[in-house]
Amino acid sequence: MPVKRKSRGRSKGGKGKGSQVQCCQCGELVPRDKAKKVSRRVTLIEPILARELRQKGAYIPARVDTRYYCVSCAVHRGVVKVRARNDRRVRTRRGGRRR
Ligand SMILES: [Zn+2]
Repeated sequence: MPVKRKSRGRSKGGKGKGSQVQCCQCGELVPRDKAKKVSRRVTLIEPILARELRQKGAYIPARVDTRYYCVSCAVHRGVVKVRARNDRRVRTRRGGRRR
């Protein structure tokens, strides 16, 4: 049977049902392996000030903000992009350099 994606849009493999997470934008419940995970460091200090402080050897506290997006919200926000038919089967590492 021809499938659109090799992984069927998930990273589940052969296992059964896994846990679900809530999309942080629309609140939809999506399987954890299907949701797009975005994590980034968040700090309250402004970037320009932070750079100056870092040069003086200060430790800038930052927490990691992890968010899950459903596929439609991830496409809307530009976390993932619609790819051409041939490129869909190419498996790239999620995250990477963007964000
Ligand atoms: Zn959503």
